[in-house]
Amino acid sequence: MEYGCELWGEKKWAEAELIQRSMGKFILGAPISMTNEAVLGELGWVPLVDRRLGLRLRYWHKLINMREGRLVKEAYEMERERNGKWAKVTKEGLYKLGLGEFWESQRTRMSQEKWAELLEGKLKGWCELEWKKRMSMKPKLRRYAQRKEELKYERYLDCGHMMGRSLLTRLRTGSSWLRLEMGRRGRLRLERVVRTCEVCWLAVEDGLHFLRECEGYKDLREEAEREIREEWSKRLLVVSGEREWESLFWGEGDQKTSDTVMRYIARAAARRDRVLGTKVYRELKRRIFDS
Ligand SMILES: [Zn+2]
Repeated sequence: MEYGCELWGEKKWAEAELIQRSMGKFILGAPISMTNEAVLGELGWVPLVDRRLGLRLRYWHKLINMREGRLVKEAYEMERERNGKWAKVTKEGLYKLGLGEFWESQRTRMSQEKWAELLEGKLKGWCELEWKKRMSMKPKLRRYAQRKEELKYERYLDCGHMMGRSLLTRLRTGSSWLRLEMGRRGRLRLERVVRTCEVCWLAVEDGLHFLRECEGYKDLREEAEREIREEWSKRLLVVSGEREWESLFWGEGDQKTSDTVMRYIARAAARRDRVLGTKVYRELKRRIFDS
């Protein structure tokens, strides 16, 4: 899809971004309603337009290091002198990433590998900043943005428990089936404080409540905790307290721990359905295994 994009990649090409995102949603087993920032965030992907900028600037580095007299190099010099489109976009890209000085001097004194490395870091930094800016404008992602600081692939996605994994992604990214989110939709638009958990009737039903607090799943949670403690003790580790438990239950632990957490989530979600007479679990299962 990106063939030759060093030369044309400045266009926005919205269709490609759309394909990338629906691919991402498919990988995550995520609902259509999941925000783009959450998809990119969980997978650690940068928008394609920025990927193309990266490729362009790599190519630019090759160009400026070509020996004089080569046809491409001459074409480039001409393009630059007449301030053509390609040169303009490349220059803007370099400035955008804080690398404008290299455009001015037209040399970097770096090997292609070193340049690629520098570029990758700058690009990631820039994408991360933009991604955070966009997240800050979406109330649905407020919690997610607080926990997720880096635009990086989440290791829990490597777990084999498909249902648990998909449920956890939904919880993490504010696209879940819980009252907090559902109450936000539709004609009912409930105030946050009245989006009460209908399993225990004790608090607002948000992700943390479901994972760590709800009395309705206490036995399941304790079982998961016991399993994790035992597993950790083999490695001479202990869970240091509730904050660490929280982060483990958000899928931020090692793979084995996340596996246990996902089993908890799947069981709790199934129980919630039984108690409330809903079909969240069954419908998700159908969607995942039929697609
Ligand atoms: Zn509850």
